[in-house]
Amino acid sequence: QGDSKDFDSETESVCPFCGVGCKVSLKVKDGKVKYVEGINGPANEGRLCVKGRFGFDYIHHSHRLTKPLIRREDAPAKGLNVHPDNWNEFFREASWDEAMAFAAGGLSGLRDQHGGKAVAGFGSAKCTNEEAYLFQKFIRQGFLHNNVDHCTRLCHASSVTALIENVGSGAVTATFNEIENADVAIIIGANPIENHPVAATYFKQFTKRGGKLIVMDPRGVGLRRFAEEMVQFRPGTDVSMLNAIMHVIVEEELYDSQYIHRWTENWEAEKAHLKDFSPEAMSEICGVSPDQLRRVARIFAGAEAGMIFWGMGVSQHIHGTDNSRCLISLALMTGNVGKPGAGLHPLRGQNNVQGASDAGLVPMFLPDYQSVMDDGIRKAFTDVWGAGDFSNEKGLTVTEIMDEAYAGNIKGMYIQGENPAMSDPDVEHARDALAKLEHLVVQDIFLTETANYADVILPASALYEKNGTVSNTNRQVQRVRPAVTPPGDAREDWKITVELAQRVGLNWDYGDVSEVFNEMKINMASLNNITWERLKTETITYPSLSETDPGQAIVFGDGFPRAEGRAKFTPASVIAPDESPDADYPMIMTTGRQLEHWHTGSMTRRSNVLDAVEPEANCSLHPKTLRRLGVEPGEHVRLSTRRGSIVIMARADRAVAEDMVFVPFAYVEAAANILTNPALDPYGKIPEFKFSAVKVEKAEGA
Ligand code: SF4
Repeated sequence: QGDSKDFDSETESVCPFCGVGCKVSLKVKDGKVKYVEGINGPANEGRLCVKGRFGFDYIHHSHRLTKPLIRREDAPAKGLNVHPDNWNEFFREASWDEAMAFAAGGLSGLRDQHGGKAVAGFGSAKCTNEEAYLFQKFIRQGFLHNNVDHCTRLCHASSVTALIENVGSGAVTATFNEIENADVAIIIGANPIENHPVAATYFKQFTKRGGKLIVMDPRGVGLRRFAEEMVQFRPGTDVSMLNAIMHVIVEEELYDSQYIHRWTENWEAEKAHLKDFSPEAMSEICGVSPDQLRRVARIFAGAEAGMIFWGMGVSQHIHGTDNSRCLISLALMTGNVGKPGAGLHPLRGQNNVQGASDAGLVPMFLPDYQSVMDDGIRKAFTDVWGAGDFSNEKGLTVTEIMDEAYAGNIKGMYIQGENPAMSDPDVEHARDALAKLEHLVVQDIFLTETANYADVILPASALYEKNGTVSNTNRQVQRVRPAVTPPGDAREDWKITVELAQRVGLNWDYGDVSEVFNEMKINMASLNNITWERLKTETITYPSLSETDPGQAIVFGDGFPRAEGRAKFTPASVIAPDESPDADYPMIMTTGRQLEHWHTGSMTRRSNVLDAVEPEANCSLHPKTLRRLGVEPGEHVRLSTRRGSIVIMARADRAVAEDMVFVPFAYVEAAANILTNPALDPYGKIPEFKFSAVKVEKAEGA
C-alpha cells in the first residue's frame, strides 16, 4: 500500500475471484495495477482475502494473449501442450478482421451445412452480466437452440434446481450478512475459510457474539474451531443424516406448525417419509452418533432464527438435488425463511456465477429463469431481439454437450472464458471431445488447456479491464470498471461477441455496454428499479422495490413465487454414490479448491504471490493413512480411479478422514479431473466431483 503519490489513478471495481463480491479500489501507476485495497462494499466492508489483495497481477502477466491467433495448417495434432514458448508451432498471429472472419465463417458454415445444433457454446461466470446475456442470445438467436451453458453446471446447478422447485427462485433467500441476526447457522459441505474467506469473517464474528455454528462436512474444515457442533459425516450420506435430523424434529414436535400451515405444501408427505429415518437407523450409514443428530436437531429447531449455508460438498453429487431438497425442508419446517436472521444460502463460487445464471446462460432458462419451453416467454424475447423463434426444447448441459461433441453430433463450439479441458469430470473424455471438433473458437486471456484444441483464439479482457455489472452470492448487483486497458490488441469480451454475431448474420447494434444492460431490463423483472445511473454509485440487492430501495436482503416473508404463494416439501430418498470403494479402489477421493488457487489455476498460478505460497500440486491425507502407505509428507503418491491416474505430492492433514484423499483441481500437471466421475445428478445434471473410488499408492521414486 502507499499514499496518493504512489499512483496515477484509482478505480472502483469488484474482486474477480469468488462469489462474495468484495469491492476493491485499484491503484494504477504507469498503466499497471500496483496494489488493491478493499473498500466499503456491503459484502466486505473493506475486507479482502489473500486472493483479492495480492492475486491481481495475473492481468499483467507476460502470458497474456495480445493478438488473435489462427491454427497453422501445418500445426501438430490438436491437444498437444501449447505454451508461450512454442505457440508459433501451432498458431500464427492474425488481424482481428481475418480472425473474426475465420471464427464466424467456421461457425456459420457448420450451421448452414448441418443445422444450428452442430454448434454449441460455453459462456463464462468470469464475464459480466451483459457479456453472459449477449452470449446466450448469440447461441439462441444465431443458432436457434438452447445448447448453451457455463460452469454453474459444475457447481450449484443441483441447488438451483431444488430451490426453483421448492421455493420458486434459484437465488439465496437471505444475504450471508444476515447471519448477524441469526441465533444458529448450519454450514454444510462448504469450506468458507478457504473458498469464501471474507464471508467466513462474518461467520466467525457471529460465533463471537454467541451465535451457535453447526459445521457439517466429511472433512474437518477450518470453521470447526468456531463450531458448537462439528458433524463429520461419511461422504455421500447427506440425505440419511439430514433426514435423521428432521426425523427428530418431527418426533419431538419441534417444527413450526403455524409457518408450515400458512406457507407450505406437501408437509404430510414429508412427515410420513421421515418416519423411516430414525437417528439410530441412520447413524450406521452416516457415521454420526444418534446423540449428535438429536443435539443438532434440537439446537437448530429450538432457535428463534436460523440460517443454512451450503457449498459444493452438497451440490456435487448424483444426489445433489436431493441434498438441497433436505436443506430446504429443514428450513421450511422450522419456519426459517423470510424473516431476519433466517434463510437459505448456497454460497456461490465464481464472482459472477449468480449473474451469469440470472442472465440466461443456462440451457433450460432464458434470463430470470424463464422457461425456454414457454411460447409466450420466448416471444417476449424474440420481440425485443427482432428475431424469429428458436427451439422450445431445453438445451444440453456442459457434459452433455461434450458427449455430443465426442459422438460427432456437435461439430463446432464457441467457448468464452471457460476451461473444460481442465474443469470437466473425466477430463480426458472432454479433451478427446474437443479434439474432434471441426471448428473451435476460444476467447480467453491466456492460452488455457482448452486453447490447445482451438482453431482460432480471440484475445479477451480481464475483469479489471472491463465495464459492466456483476452479481454476487447475495444477489447484489455491482458495477465493474476498467482500471487499465487490455494488453496489445485484446478486446472486451462483449465487443468480441457483438462483432461475431454481426458476422454470423445477426442484426446487432450496441454502442455501449449500458445499452445491453437496458435491453436486459426489458424482460428481467429482477432488475426492476435497478438503473445504470443508480449503479454508478450504489450496490443494489435485487429485488429492489423502488428507485430509492437499496434492495431486499431477505425475501419471501410474504409468500413464495409459486402457486398460492406456498413453498413445497419434496421428500428425498437415499441414493448411494455412483461408485463405491472396492478391493481395487478402496478409498474415497473428493476434490475442491484451496485458499490460494482459483479453479483451473489459469489466473492464480500466474499471480506471483499466490503461486509462491502454493506452487506445487498437492493432495491431503490423514497422517495415519500416510504411515500405512509408507509415505512421508512431501513425498509423492499415485492416485488412480477407473478413469486414470496422476502423481501428486502428499500432505498430512488430520482433518481428512482416514479413508479419504482431498485433491485441489487447480493444477494441470496433476489434474484432479482426470480422476473424477462424470456420473450426473438426474435433475441438476451436475457431475459427482465429490465422490470417486480411488486407489492411493506410494509413487515410484517418491
Ligand atoms: Fe475476492 Fe472472494 Fe477473497 Fe473477497 S473473499 S477478496 S471476493 S476471493
